[in-house]
Amino acid sequence: MFDPVLETVTYPSVVLITGAAAGMGANHSRVLAARGVHVCLADVADTSAVVEEIETAGGSASAHTLDVADPASWSRVVDEIRSHKGILDGLVNNAGISRRLEFMDTPDDVWEATMRINLFGPFYGMKAVAPLMRDSGGGSIVNISSISGQIGYFSPAYSSSKWGVRGLSKSAAGNFAKWGIRVNSVHPGLVGTSLLGGADAFVGAALESVPFGRMATVDEVTDAVMFLLSDRSTYMTGSEVTVDGGMTSNGLYHRIIAETGDQLS
Ligand code: NAD
Repeated sequence: MFDPVLETVTYPSVVLITGAAAGMGANHSRVLAARGVHVCLADVADTSAVVEEIETAGGSASAHTLDVADPASWSRVVDEIRSHKGILDGLVNNAGISRRLEFMDTPDDVWEATMRINLFGPFYGMKAVAPLMRDSGGGSIVNISSISGQIGYFSPAYSSSKWGVRGLSKSAAGNFAKWGIRVNSVHPGLVGTSLLGGADAFVGAALESVPFGRMATVDEVTDAVMFLLSDRSTYMTGSEVTVDGGMTSNGLYHRIIAETGDQLS
């Protein structure tokens, strides 16, 4: 039976999104703003074009310069939000970098930069926002990991950083439950953004292991983020949501069956 109460979805009032200048972060920002949320767009790159686009469409947004790998940069941004908005009840740790390099080809500086941005970033971020979120009555944190944080992915820096985000999210979920803060991770498979730029051959071959036979759209990842931010997921914390077209659960046999055709038995 249709229940109008169950059909209502409530989102946080003020959400901070990192890596919001482009790709998925920009998309999450636009969709949240269209639902009446004030979005704080943070990036090392300039977010003003996305902020302008949101405001032109009638939404509310602010631009913040943030290097997620720098704790001082996080303190400044949280101070800006505290003084301008007074509250913060949502955070999406989305900023990330990826270099597809096998183990012995991974320079130490790439290892370090990847860990600092992809893993230290969400740690510094949660530590910086948690007191304001607690004072705001609680909130929801969504950490963007990857299927590379669920399987043995060939590129060790990216894979280790994303496994780290998965564990960090579960650990933080336990710590912050007492403040009414939920922490969950999202694990996208292949999504067509600049992160996969120049990797056409890699993506083409990888799609052979995706039962749905295509990449995810950015909207399909945004839908998972929106659900975890919203009051439709209030009993979910320490959980992981995989958005990969069946790649990790069924990719292996999808490829085997495609290659063996009718010679199964
Ligand atoms: P993208 O490259 O399009 O956007 C990433 C954004 O992060 C950029 O705007 C960039 O300026 C910003 N950024 C980089 N370093 C930063 C720093 N130090 N501080 C602040 N911002 C910084 O990438 P995307 O595909 O939209 O990726 C978003 C997230 O999704 C990343 O965490 C990525 O690892 C993850 N992911 C992407 C895919 C994919 O196939 N595209 C798959 C799984 C997971």
